[in-house]
Amino acid sequence: MTRSRGTAVLTATAVAAVLSLARPAAAYVRYKTDSGNGFFWGQISVPITAYPNDFVQQTMTPDQVDTAVLDAASTWSAGANACTYLNLVLSVSTDPTPIPAYDHLNTVVFRSTSWCQLAADGTCEADYDTMALAVTSDTANKKTGQIYDSDIEINTLDYVWADVTADAGLTGDMDLQNAITHEMGHLIGLDHTCYNPLGSLPQPTDDSGQPVPACDQASLAVQATTMYPSAMMGDTQKRTLAPDDQAGLCGIYPVDHPPQPAGGCASCATVPTPMDGIELVGLGVFAALLAGARRARRASRR
Ligand SMILES: [Zn+2]
Repeated sequence: MTRSRGTAVLTATAVAAVLSLARPAAAYVRYKTDSGNGFFWGQISVPITAYPNDFVQQTMTPDQVDTAVLDAASTWSAGANACTYLNLVLSVSTDPTPIPAYDHLNTVVFRSTSWCQLAADGTCEADYDTMALAVTSDTANKKTGQIYDSDIEINTLDYVWADVTADAGLTGDMDLQNAITHEMGHLIGLDHTCYNPLGSLPQPTDDSGQPVPACDQASLAVQATTMYPSAMMGDTQKRTLAPDDQAGLCGIYPVDHPPQPAGGCASCATVPTPMDGIELVGLGVFAALLAGARRARRASRR
């Protein structure tokens, strides 16, 4: 089984601000199966483990890295959003970083020595676009859309990261919490709030069936969403959810309709996990908007 990932990387250097007068108050876009079922987690709590060992840039302290990941998870959780039951439960591990794979282990990893799709033996199977700041891969049941696994990879090979809120002198760098908050949106099943018409994908529709705008014509409201697919240096706007993002979180995981806990039901039938129904979906490539972003020097340590 191979892993494929999307290559919908935006390379636009300018974004036109087009006011949209007829846009609904809040809309969101979900990843969907071929049959149109939206992606979702079937549980209240989603455990995620971050492996910061490989973050070796001097621009952030270990505490700042941990805080960026923890706060990104909290931003999409019930504690910060009364309208949802979902909890992203983050732990930080100093164990060796696992290879991102469909293994029921949801991870946040930092890629400091290579930026590519890794094979099980740790070798590069295919290069990622160097314009991509991060990549998230969700593994979901291709019929129901239930997500079984999600992995977030941060490009610490090509980009310098910082906590630009704490360190105001580093606004020429990419804000780590900003990017991880965006990736956590992919982890819960959300797609971008605009699409690249030059890509090969058909124009997606939002939760109300409306076509998703092209990114170069997206309104200011769409540009302000966490799930907008590009970031600028010093950008922290995606750290907080816009109305569209919160509508997605609470539309998919509404507080008044939590899933029933698994197990303990005497009359329930055991349904084996449909291994042949698994689809590995390449998702969320988060791109650097400006070519002028400070880039890390590629280190040849392989
Ligand atoms: Zn994305």
